[in-house]
Amino acid sequence: MPSGPELDTAQFTVQPRGELTPEILGKRWRSVQAILRMATITGSQMQLSPALNLICDLAAMITSFDSACVYFWNEPQEKTELRLRRGHIDDGPQVPWGGNLLHFWVTQQARPLMLETGRHAKVDSELAAAGAKSALVVPLFVKGRVLGSLQLFCEKAEGFTEEDAQLLWTLALVSENLLTREQANEGLLRFAFTDYLTGLRTRGYFEQQLDLEVKRSDRRNEQFSLLMVDIDHFKALNDNHGHQVGDSVLRQVTSLLVKDMREVDTVARYGGEEFVIILPEATEEEAVSVAQRIRKAVQSADFQIEGLDGHEKLTISIGIAVYGRDADCRQKLIECADAALYAAKSRGRNQVLTYSRLLASERKEVS
Ligand code: GH3
Ligand code: MG
Ligand code: MG
Repeated sequence: MPSGPELDTAQFTVQPRGELTPEILGKRWRSVQAILRMATITGSQMQLSPALNLICDLAAMITSFDSACVYFWNEPQEKTELRLRRGHIDDGPQVPWGGNLLHFWVTQQARPLMLETGRHAKVDSELAAAGAKSALVVPLFVKGRVLGSLQLFCEKAEGFTEEDAQLLWTLALVSENLLTREQANEGLLRFAFTDYLTGLRTRGYFEQQLDLEVKRSDRRNEQFSLLMVDIDHFKALNDNHGHQVGDSVLRQVTSLLVKDMREVDTVARYGGEEFVIILPEATEEEAVSVAQRIRKAVQSADFQIEGLDGHEKLTISIGIAVYGRDADCRQKLIECADAALYAAKSRGRNQVLTYSRLLASERKEVS
């Protein structure tokens, strides 16, 4: 058994009242405004991640904290995952069924928890992961079940009051409808964004994700890399063995592409036998090393041909472009990666080429 259940978490539980008292309403009008704002927004369409971000923003109007995170259930992947992190928080030990111990405890109690250091070793180590002396953890509900937790941390002791817990509890209750709908939509969206043949993300999903990544990079002034992958001479394999065998080989190539990728990376089918991979925060050198690893994995793999004893060999070509260096907008980035891929093909296939190297060699030719 994991160490979590041994702690009696009831001692940290806050019993919230059904209604806010006149004292709270008078003293905490800003907090009440935050809750009312959420109440007016619950009808709007937004995705789950922006909804969780919004809850965190409104929580910041209710109480001050030094860092925060949100764990939430991911329906298609059937696991609890970290969906949002603000400020410096180490992941801390995760329980086997997902989330950290604070998430597990608040799921058990379905009530806010107010935690302080110095009362229990397990609580202390959870707070240490966030560099905090106190924490307030609020359950987030979907259809009456706790599917998430909002975790706020304060570097000083007694950073939160029972009143904070009461108000955040009310915020969580008001957010329930929004979370319920967006959680259901997320399940549907993921289904719609899955390529039926390979199980990869679709091109539509890739386009959206690329938009998000561009915005994130602009905000943080960081680079990220885009890989464009195309199978070499795939038409010949189709012509020799038929389309069904081609489909099966496409799936085999897919499993090599996703192997060892980070959770933050997006691997999508761009069309036909072409794939795109977004590597957030990856420099050109890192992208090249990922690309070479994939290229070698495909080169050395034996692709099984159904109904045939033998196997086929295949290679891939990869073009790389770096956002913030080769391109400063989404469209240009795709064009650069595509140009590098095209050049990799014309230079003999089974190779990785970056847009910057392509440019450098073209300049040399001109001079
Ligand atoms: P190159 O090295 O220049 O990329 O050559 P290629 O033969 O791979 O490229 P081309 O674009 O001429 O042909 C791509 C082929 O990929 C055409 C089609 O037979 C095959 N293809 C595209 N989508 C699918 C698919 O969904 N299933 C199967 N089985 N084959 C596909
Ligand atoms: Mg091809
Ligand atoms: Mg192609």
